[in-house]
Amino acid sequence: MSQTAHMLERTRAILADLVAFPTVSADGNTALIGYADSILREAGARSFVTFDETGTKANLFATLGPDGDGGIVLSGHSDVVPTDGQEWTSDPFELREEDGKLHARGACDMKGFIACCLAMVPAFAEAELKRPIHFAFTYDEEVGCFGARALMEELERAAIKPSVCIIGEPTSMRIIEGHKGCFEYTTEFTGTGGHGSQPDKGVNAVEIAVRYVTRLMELGEALKRKAPAESPFEPPWTTVQVGRMEGGSARNVIAGHCAVEWEMRPVVDEDAAFVKDALARYVETDLLPAMQAIAPETGIAVRTIGEVAGLEPMPDSEALALVSELTGGRERDVVAFGTEAGLFQDAGIATVVCGPGSIDQAHQPDEYVDLDQLEACLEMLARLVKRLAET
Ligand SMILES: [Zn+2]
Repeated sequence: MSQTAHMLERTRAILADLVAFPTVSADGNTALIGYADSILREAGARSFVTFDETGTKANLFATLGPDGDGGIVLSGHSDVVPTDGQEWTSDPFELREEDGKLHARGACDMKGFIACCLAMVPAFAEAELKRPIHFAFTYDEEVGCFGARALMEELERAAIKPSVCIIGEPTSMRIIEGHKGCFEYTTEFTGTGGHGSQPDKGVNAVEIAVRYVTRLMELGEALKRKAPAESPFEPPWTTVQVGRMEGGSARNVIAGHCAVEWEMRPVVDEDAAFVKDALARYVETDLLPAMQAIAPETGIAVRTIGEVAGLEPMPDSEALALVSELTGGRERDVVAFGTEAGLFQDAGIATVVCGPGSIDQAHQPDEYVDLDQLEACLEMLARLVKRLAET
C-alpha cells in the first residue's frame, strides 16, 4: 500500500470513530475530545482540555514539536448540527461509503478535517519540527463560536502565541481569506393569555413577533441598497434571516409567548449597528407602547446568542503565504458563511480557512465528504510537516 493510500485508510477509520460520537451542539462533545486527546497524547503531545460551565462541552488544545511562539494552529470545531427533520438514507452517525463519498453527519463539516489532522499526528510527532504545531478542537461553533471564544482566553492565559491558524472548514481546499461576520439573536415576546374570542383584551405575542419580523425584513431590503461598491462577497450586502419562530399554544388561545431566532451576516460592522438601532427604535416607539397600553407586564427581550467577527482579508498575511505554498493554490476567495477565523484573527493570529469537502454538503441530509478531498487535505498536511521540519 502506498503511503498516501495508507494515510487515507487511517483517516477513514478515524473519521468513522469521530462521526459515531453524536456531538450535536446541544448534547456535548467530551467523549470525542477524550478520543482525540488520547491519539495526541499517545504521540507525545502536550495538551490541555478545558470545559464549559456545564462540564458537558470541552475544548482540546495540543502541541507537538518545540515550545514557544510562532506555531501553526490546525483548528476545527467538533460539534455538528442536528439531523431533526432531515431524511437520511442511513444512520447519520455511522459512516457510509458510496462512490468515493463518505456520508455521515459532520463528515464534511468538519470531522473530515479533524480526522486528517489526527491521522497525521504520528507524522508530526516523528518529524524534527522547528516550530510548534498546535491542534485546536472546539465546541459550540454551530451555535455561536463559544468554544473558540473560551479558547482564545485560555491561550492568552497560557501565554501561547501561535502565528498562523488554518481553519479546516469545508472550502473544497480553496483558500478563503475573508468572510462575513455572523451575529445571532433570539428575540422573546411576552404577551398575555386569554380567550381567542376576545383578542383585543390581550396582547398576542405571535402577532407582535410578526410585526417585528416584518420590520426586520424591511431592514434587510434596505441593506441590499447599502452594499459597498467593492464588496468581495456574494451576495455583496449584509443579509438578515429568520431561521426559527415558535409561539402560542392553541388556535383559540391568545399567544402568551413567542420567540424568533434570527441572524445577520454583516459585510461591515456599521450594518450590524444600523439593524440593531433601527429595531430597538421600532420596539421603543411602536411595539412596546401598543403592548403596554393593554398590559404593562408584557415585553420584548433580545438575547445575543453570538456576535462573531468577520474575517478581514489581509493580503500580506503569513497564513495566506503559507497555505498558498502548501496547496499550490494561488486563488484567494471569500465566502458568505461564518467561521471561528475572525476570533483567531482578532487574537493576532494570521488566519485563513481551507479544508476538505464542499460547504454545499454541510448541514444537509446525507452530508458527505469526497475521499479525493480528504486526500488533498492529507497532502497539504504532509507538506506542512516537511515545511515545519525545515524552518
Ligand atoms: Zn463548520
